[in-house]
Amino acid sequence: MANWHNGIVVENRRITERLTSLKIDAPLGPFIPGQFVRIGLDIDGQVIARPYSLVNAPSEFPLEIYFNIVEGGPLSPRLFNLKAGDNVKVANIPAGFLVIDEVPKTNCLWMMATGTAIGPFLSILKCEQVWQKFERVVLCYSVRTTKELAYADLIADLQKRHAGQLVFIPLITREKVPDSLSMRIPAAIENGQLEQWAGVALAAENSHVMMCGSAAMIRDVISVIELRGMRRHRRRQPGHYTTEKYH
Ligand SMILES: Cc1cc2nc3c(=O)[nH]c(=O)nc-3n(C[C@H](O)[C@H](O)[C@H](O)COP(=O)(O)OP(=O)(O)OC[C@H]3O[C@@H](n4cnc5c(N)ncnc54)[C@H](O)[C@@H]3O)c2cc1C
Repeated sequence: MANWHNGIVVENRRITERLTSLKIDAPLGPFIPGQFVRIGLDIDGQVIARPYSLVNAPSEFPLEIYFNIVEGGPLSPRLFNLKAGDNVKVANIPAGFLVIDEVPKTNCLWMMATGTAIGPFLSILKCEQVWQKFERVVLCYSVRTTKELAYADLIADLQKRHAGQLVFIPLITREKVPDSLSMRIPAAIENGQLEQWAGVALAAENSHVMMCGSAAMIRDVISVIELRGMRRHRRRQPGHYTTEKYH
């Protein structure tokens, strides 16, 4: 059973009218980059909570989550409207297996995110372990429009710091924008454009794929990469992909 820390909102930084980054001051203990924590609000005398990935590295304070409003959802519209100084509940137990320790050693790590699911990958990329473990990291970030491409400055900074090791591929599905692909991730795997951009093969022999976000993206990527002989990774049966589904 989780106990609740009382958190205080430090900042609510709107990215668009539907996307926001919430910074929260709460005494959460150690967590592993890529993990999530349950965040909640007291609503009519009851704590309503949902899992949110942490965007900050474990060494960074305050905590940060990145999310969108789900129309009609009990929690996200309320979280979206919080202001600096407001109270929020933070569960004391971080959880989740979308972490580098759970990925077998290979040459190339592919990170595939839709929308707000970029969060856990940013936490991982801010930390040293991933850069020690893999020769190449390919970050594929799929959004609908350019303005939804949050954390572009942070990603540009990571590209500078890890030049030659990090490849960043933005996929903007509803716009045609230079230096991006205008298609969904599964299509870009199927037609070879993701590999062409990355300059590396996406194959069982050299790659592991971490996927995070919508069930549709995860399902469709799995169906393409399983045709290449890639299998779900399990501790007792090492494989080639790992997933975390938000919805
Ligand atoms: C392990 C885990 C980590 C998560 N981390 C994040 C995160 O970092 N950022 C984030 O934005 N969300 C994240 N989510 C989703 C989040 O927990 C909530 O479901 C979401 O914010 C909506 O909350 P709600 O209470 O308003 O509606 P809910 O009652 O949770 O959901 C209402 C309906 O909307 C669907 N739904 C949930 N999220 C979305 C979405 N983004 N777009 C469209 N439909 C959706 C649900 O499947 C459900 O059918 C995560 C989910 C899981 C399981």
